[in-house]
Amino acid sequence: MIYHNRRSIPYYSFQNLDSYPELQHAVFTRHGGVSPPPWDSLNLGWAVGDDDANVEANYRRWTLQFGIPRDDLATTHQVHGNKVLVAGAEPMGDVPGRADAMITATPLLPLTQRYADCTPILMFDPVKHACGIAHAGWRGTVARCAESTVQAMHSQFGSDPADIVAAVGPAIGPCCYEVGAEVVSAIERSQRQPEQLLSRPSNEGGVHLDLWTANATQLQDAGVGSVEVAGLCTSCHRHIFFSHRGDGGKSGRFAAFIMLNTPSCL
Ligand SMILES: [Zn+2]
Repeated sequence: MIYHNRRSIPYYSFQNLDSYPELQHAVFTRHGGVSPPPWDSLNLGWAVGDDDANVEANYRRWTLQFGIPRDDLATTHQVHGNKVLVAGAEPMGDVPGRADAMITATPLLPLTQRYADCTPILMFDPVKHACGIAHAGWRGTVARCAESTVQAMHSQFGSDPADIVAAVGPAIGPCCYEVGAEVVSAIERSQRQPEQLLSRPSNEGGVHLDLWTANATQLQDAGVGSVEVAGLCTSCHRHIFFSHRGDGGKSGRFAAFIMLNTPSCL
Protein backbone atom coordinates (compact mmCIF):
# COMPACT_ATOMS: atom_id res chain seq x y z
CA MET A 1 0.00 0.00 0.00
CA ILE A 2 0.97 3.60 -0.51
CA TYR A 3 0.54 6.19 2.25
CA HIS A 4 -0.82 9.62 1.28
CA ASN A 5 -0.49 12.43 3.83
CA ARG A 6 -0.29 15.64 1.84
CA ARG A 7 -3.89 16.61 2.61
CA SER A 8 -5.71 16.96 5.92
CA ILE A 9 -7.02 13.40 5.98
CA PRO A 10 -4.30 10.80 5.46
CA TYR A 11 -5.13 7.55 3.69
CA TYR A 12 -3.64 4.50 2.05
CA SER A 13 -4.18 3.21 -1.47
CA PHE A 14 -3.30 -0.08 -3.14
CA GLN A 15 -0.71 -0.12 -5.89
CA ASN A 16 -2.61 -2.57 -8.08
CA LEU A 17 -5.78 -0.40 -7.97
CA ASP A 18 -3.87 2.89 -8.31
CA SER A 19 -2.96 2.05 -11.89
CA TYR A 20 -6.57 2.66 -13.03
CA PRO A 21 -7.50 6.35 -13.40
CA GLU A 22 -11.12 5.28 -13.91
CA LEU A 23 -11.24 4.21 -10.26
CA GLN A 24 -10.96 6.04 -6.92
CA HIS A 25 -10.38 4.27 -3.63
CA ALA A 26 -8.89 4.81 -0.19
CA VAL A 27 -8.35 3.10 3.13
CA PHE A 28 -8.49 5.68 5.89
CA THR A 29 -6.63 5.60 9.17
CA ARG A 30 -7.80 6.78 12.61
CA HIS A 31 -6.31 10.24 11.98
CA GLY A 32 -7.73 13.45 10.54
CA GLY A 33 -11.11 13.59 12.31
CA VAL A 34 -12.78 15.33 15.23
CA SER A 35 -13.72 12.52 17.64
CA PRO A 36 -12.23 12.46 21.17
CA PRO A 37 -10.55 9.40 22.76
CA PRO A 38 -11.13 6.48 22.57
CA TRP A 39 -12.55 7.20 19.09
CA ASP A 40 -9.77 9.59 18.11
CA SER A 41 -10.15 10.83 15.69
CA LEU A 42 -11.60 9.82 12.30
CA ASN A 43 -14.23 7.48 13.71
CA LEU A 44 -16.71 6.51 11.01
CA GLY A 45 -18.68 3.98 13.04
CA TRP A 46 -22.06 4.64 14.60
CA ALA A 47 -23.17 2.86 17.75
CA VAL A 48 -19.67 2.58 19.17
CA GLY A 49 -20.28 5.23 21.87
CA ASP A 50 -19.07 8.27 19.93
CA ASP A 51 -21.34 11.27 19.45
CA ASP A 52 -23.25 10.99 16.14
CA ALA A 53 -22.40 14.64 15.42
CA ASN A 54 -18.69 13.76 15.50
CA VAL A 55 -19.22 10.78 13.21
CA GLU A 56 -21.16 12.92 10.77
CA ALA A 57 -18.48 15.64 10.87
CA ASN A 58 -15.90 12.96 10.06
CA TYR A 59 -17.91 11.76 7.07
CA ARG A 60 -18.19 15.32 5.83
CA ARG A 61 -14.42 15.83 6.18
CA TRP A 62 -13.35 12.88 4.08
CA THR A 63 -16.06 13.22 1.42
CA LEU A 64 -15.16 16.90 1.04
CA GLN A 65 -11.50 16.01 0.52
CA PHE A 66 -12.45 13.61 -2.29
CA GLY A 67 -15.10 15.90 -3.81
CA ILE A 68 -17.87 13.42 -3.08
CA PRO A 69 -21.35 14.58 -2.03
CA ARG A 70 -21.87 13.17 1.47
CA ASP A 71 -25.36 11.93 0.68
CA ASP A 72 -24.13 9.90 -2.30
CA LEU A 73 -22.37 7.34 -0.08
CA ALA A 74 -23.76 3.83 -0.25
CA THR A 75 -23.13 1.55 2.70
CA THR A 76 -24.51 -1.46 4.53
CA HIS A 77 -25.40 -2.48 8.04
CA GLN A 78 -22.61 -5.03 8.49
CA VAL A 79 -23.72 -8.33 10.01
CA HIS A 80 -20.75 -10.74 9.54
CA GLY A 81 -22.35 -12.75 6.75
CA ASN A 82 -21.88 -13.23 3.01
CA LYS A 83 -24.80 -11.36 1.47
CA VAL A 84 -23.89 -9.02 -1.40
CA LEU A 85 -26.02 -5.96 -2.23
CA VAL A 86 -26.09 -4.52 -5.74
CA ALA A 87 -25.90 -0.75 -5.44
CA GLY A 88 -27.15 1.64 -8.08
CA ALA A 89 -29.76 -0.57 -9.69
CA GLU A 90 -32.39 1.09 -7.55
CA PRO A 91 -32.32 3.65 -4.74
CA MET A 92 -30.84 2.14 -1.58
CA GLY A 93 -32.94 4.27 0.76
CA ASP A 94 -31.92 5.94 3.97
CA VAL A 95 -31.68 2.72 5.99
CA PRO A 96 -28.68 0.62 4.96
CA GLY A 97 -29.43 -2.98 4.03
CA ARG A 98 -27.98 -5.80 6.10
CA ALA A 99 -25.04 -7.17 4.14
CA ASP A 100 -21.26 -7.44 4.24
CA ALA A 101 -20.52 -6.66 0.62
CA MET A 102 -21.67 -4.26 -2.07
CA ILE A 103 -21.00 -4.20 -5.79
CA THR A 104 -21.86 -1.65 -8.47
CA ALA A 105 -21.39 -0.78 -12.12
CA THR A 106 -22.77 2.73 -11.59
CA PRO A 107 -20.20 5.54 -11.96
CA LEU A 108 -19.84 8.10 -9.19
CA LEU A 109 -21.51 5.86 -6.62
CA PRO A 110 -19.05 5.53 -3.72
CA LEU A 111 -19.29 2.27 -1.75
CA THR A 112 -17.99 2.41 1.81
CA GLN A 113 -17.71 0.09 4.81
CA ARG A 114 -16.21 0.26 8.29
CA TYR A 115 -13.53 -1.80 10.04
CA ALA A 116 -11.64 -2.34 13.28
CA ASP A 117 -9.74 -5.68 12.86
CA CYS A 118 -12.06 -7.26 10.26
CA THR A 119 -10.68 -7.50 6.73
CA PRO A 120 -11.43 -4.81 4.11
CA ILE A 121 -11.61 -6.27 0.60
CA LEU A 122 -11.77 -4.06 -2.50
CA MET A 123 -12.37 -5.26 -6.08
CA PHE A 124 -12.33 -3.71 -9.53
CA ASP A 125 -13.09 -5.15 -12.95
CA PRO A 126 -11.58 -2.80 -15.55
CA VAL A 127 -13.18 -4.76 -18.42
CA LYS A 128 -16.81 -4.58 -17.25
CA HIS A 129 -16.19 -1.35 -15.32
CA ALA A 130 -17.58 -2.63 -12.03
CA CYS A 131 -16.31 -2.57 -8.47
CA GLY A 132 -17.06 -3.98 -5.05
CA ILE A 133 -16.23 -3.77 -1.36
CA ALA A 134 -16.49 -6.41 1.36
CA HIS A 135 -16.00 -6.85 5.09
CA ALA A 136 -14.83 -10.16 6.53
CA GLY A 137 -13.96 -10.97 10.11
CA TRP A 138 -13.77 -14.60 11.13
CA ARG A 139 -17.50 -15.15 10.58
CA GLY A 140 -17.42 -13.49 7.15
CA THR A 141 -14.33 -15.50 6.28
CA VAL A 142 -16.07 -18.73 7.32
CA ALA A 143 -19.12 -17.64 5.29
CA ARG A 144 -16.75 -17.02 2.33
CA CYS A 145 -17.87 -13.43 1.83
CA ALA A 146 -14.91 -12.58 -0.44
CA GLU A 147 -15.74 -15.50 -2.74
CA SER A 148 -19.44 -14.54 -2.75
CA THR A 149 -18.53 -11.02 -3.85
CA VAL A 150 -16.54 -12.34 -6.83
CA GLN A 151 -19.43 -14.61 -7.77
CA ALA A 152 -21.88 -11.69 -7.52
CA MET A 153 -19.72 -9.56 -9.84
CA HIS A 154 -19.77 -12.45 -12.30
CA SER A 155 -23.52 -13.04 -12.13
CA GLN A 156 -24.54 -9.35 -12.04
CA PHE A 157 -22.06 -7.77 -14.41
CA GLY A 158 -20.56 -10.69 -16.34
CA SER A 159 -17.15 -10.15 -14.76
CA ASP A 160 -14.53 -12.75 -15.61
CA PRO A 161 -12.77 -13.33 -12.25
CA ALA A 162 -9.43 -13.35 -14.09
CA ASP A 163 -10.01 -9.69 -14.96
CA ILE A 164 -10.74 -8.66 -11.36
CA VAL A 165 -8.08 -6.70 -9.48
CA ALA A 166 -8.52 -7.14 -5.72
CA ALA A 167 -6.94 -5.93 -2.50
CA VAL A 168 -6.97 -7.17 1.09
CA GLY A 169 -6.58 -4.26 3.50
CA PRO A 170 -5.37 -3.71 7.05
CA ALA A 171 -6.86 -6.20 9.51
CA ILE A 172 -5.78 -7.98 12.66
CA GLY A 173 -2.84 -10.18 11.68
CA PRO A 174 -1.75 -13.72 12.52
CA CYS A 175 0.69 -12.08 14.97
CA CYS A 176 -2.16 -10.92 17.24
CA TYR A 177 -5.36 -12.76 16.35
CA GLU A 178 -5.67 -15.53 18.93
CA VAL A 179 -8.91 -17.46 18.48
CA GLY A 180 -10.86 -20.05 20.44
CA ALA A 181 -11.94 -23.60 19.65
CA GLU A 182 -15.22 -22.52 18.02
CA VAL A 183 -13.36 -20.39 15.46
CA VAL A 184 -10.69 -23.06 14.84
CA SER A 185 -13.32 -25.64 14.08
CA ALA A 186 -15.32 -23.31 11.81
CA ILE A 187 -12.16 -22.44 9.86
CA GLU A 188 -11.25 -26.12 9.54
CA ARG A 189 -14.68 -26.89 8.13
CA SER A 190 -14.93 -23.95 5.72
CA GLN A 191 -11.47 -23.29 4.27
CA ARG A 192 -9.26 -25.18 1.87
CA GLN A 193 -5.89 -25.91 3.54
CA PRO A 194 -6.89 -24.56 6.99
CA GLU A 195 -3.53 -25.71 8.36
CA GLN A 196 -1.96 -22.79 6.48
CA LEU A 197 -4.26 -20.35 8.26
CA LEU A 198 -3.95 -21.60 11.85
CA SER A 199 -0.72 -21.42 13.83
CA ARG A 200 0.46 -21.65 17.40
CA PRO A 201 3.25 -19.06 17.73
CA SER A 202 4.21 -20.04 21.29
CA ASN A 203 3.82 -23.11 23.46
CA GLU A 204 1.90 -21.22 26.13
CA GLY A 205 -0.42 -19.27 23.83
CA GLY A 206 -3.43 -20.36 21.83
CA VAL A 207 -4.10 -20.76 18.14
CA HIS A 208 -3.77 -17.73 15.87
CA LEU A 209 -5.80 -17.16 12.69
CA ASP A 210 -4.48 -15.53 9.49
CA LEU A 211 -7.43 -13.59 8.04
CA TRP A 212 -5.22 -11.97 5.38
CA THR A 213 -4.21 -15.25 3.77
CA ALA A 214 -7.65 -16.80 4.23
CA ASN A 215 -9.31 -14.02 2.23
CA ALA A 216 -6.53 -13.72 -0.35
CA THR A 217 -6.79 -17.49 -0.89
CA GLN A 218 -10.56 -17.29 -1.35
CA LEU A 219 -10.07 -14.61 -4.00
CA GLN A 220 -7.35 -16.58 -5.78
CA ASP A 221 -9.38 -19.79 -5.63
CA ALA A 222 -12.31 -17.88 -7.17
CA GLY A 223 -10.00 -17.06 -10.09
CA VAL A 224 -9.18 -13.43 -9.30
CA GLY A 225 -6.23 -12.39 -11.41
CA SER A 226 -4.51 -9.90 -9.10
CA VAL A 227 -4.60 -9.83 -5.30
CA GLU A 228 -2.58 -7.33 -3.27
CA VAL A 229 -2.36 -7.92 0.48
CA ALA A 230 -1.61 -4.93 2.72
CA GLY A 231 -0.04 -7.09 5.43
CA LEU A 232 -0.66 -4.41 8.04
CA CYS A 233 -1.93 -5.61 11.42
CA THR A 234 -4.47 -3.25 12.96
CA SER A 235 -3.63 -4.41 16.49
CA CYS A 236 0.14 -3.97 16.06
CA HIS A 237 -0.57 -0.59 14.42
CA ARG A 238 -3.35 0.67 16.66
CA HIS A 239 -1.74 4.10 16.66
CA ILE A 240 -2.65 4.18 12.92
CA PHE A 241 -5.88 2.17 12.73
CA PHE A 242 -8.74 1.37 15.05
CA SER A 243 -8.42 -2.13 16.50
CA HIS A 244 -11.30 -3.67 18.44
CA ARG A 245 -9.00 -6.26 20.01
CA GLY A 246 -5.98 -3.98 20.38
CA ASP A 247 -7.99 -1.17 21.94
CA GLY A 248 -9.68 -3.50 24.41
CA GLY A 249 -13.12 -3.27 22.80
CA LYS A 250 -13.44 0.53 23.14
CA SER A 251 -12.55 1.80 19.72
CA GLY A 252 -13.80 3.55 16.63
CA ARG A 253 -14.08 2.31 13.07
CA PHE A 254 -11.98 3.32 10.09
CA ALA A 255 -13.40 3.19 6.59
CA ALA A 256 -12.50 2.20 3.08
CA PHE A 257 -14.24 3.34 -0.08
CA ILE A 258 -14.23 2.53 -3.76
CA MET A 259 -15.89 4.42 -6.62
CA LEU A 260 -15.99 4.27 -10.43
CA ASN A 261 -15.25 7.54 -12.15
CA THR A 262 -17.10 8.56 -15.28
CA PRO A 263 -15.18 8.57 -18.59
CA SER A 264 -15.21 12.38 -18.47
CA CYS A 265 -13.12 12.24 -15.30
CA LEU A 266 -10.25 10.57 -17.13
ZN1 LIG B 1 -0.27 -7.89 15.12
